[in-house]
Amino acid sequence: MIVLKTRRELDLMREAGRISAAALKVAGEAVAPGVSTAEIDRAAYEYIKSQGATPAFLHYNGFPATACISVNDEVIHGIPDKKHILREGDIVSIDLGAVYNGFYGDNAATFACGTISPEARRLCDTTREALYVGLSKAVAGNRLGDIGYAICEYCVSRGYGVVRDYTGHGVGTHLHEDPSVPNYGKAGKGARLLPGMTIAIEPMINEGVEEVKVLRNDWTVVTADGKLSAHFEHTVAITEGECIILTQC
Ligand code: MG
Repeated sequence: MIVLKTRRELDLMREAGRISAAALKVAGEAVAPGVSTAEIDRAAYEYIKSQGATPAFLHYNGFPATACISVNDEVIHGIPDKKHILREGDIVSIDLGAVYNGFYGDNAATFACGTISPEARRLCDTTREALYVGLSKAVAGNRLGDIGYAICEYCVSRGYGVVRDYTGHGVGTHLHEDPSVPNYGKAGKGARLLPGMTIAIEPMINEGVEEVKVLRNDWTVVTADGKLSAHFEHTVAITEGECIILTQC
């Protein structure tokens, strides 16, 4: 069931979104050669707690950290680890959220660790652009398939693989609500977008094939071919006009 939010609920979500976005910024600023992914996670945790909020992912289905930190061929759900030291040239996808006054925010971005290759830069840029292509279709009256179709078209035409096994989702009083928001689809198909819907749009784009696999820790998703992957996400509210990005600070 898709839950539409009232104006007051959207104000609460805006606050959860602001904290989520600021925490992502803090985490991104901590990315540097020689830093462990656990240190980055700690910075995000401290920030969220300092705002009187709760990390949305910590203990969610047993996830052991504040942020999912996925490096290079890791797509999503990477587990922060004090033994995982970042190196010059890595691309680092950080996905995190915060709960505040009962509402969730969820966002992600891929950060460069030092200087990255032109290929890695192009992948990151394309994935960020694909998110905004998706956002441009997130307008009341359009359908879910319009978002997925636009994202997929944008990335496939540039030679990339679009992950299909994981999708965006509704966000609200739960981290994951209906509907699911795939990064592929048919234009004009799927649920109609209505004012008050709040969804996370999150393209996960691979340098090579779209196929992924899950590591033996039962969390970390990696590309099947070992090539790079990037991930950008915003939580947004649907309106009659342009969507409102809730995860901004
Ligand atoms: Mg999400």
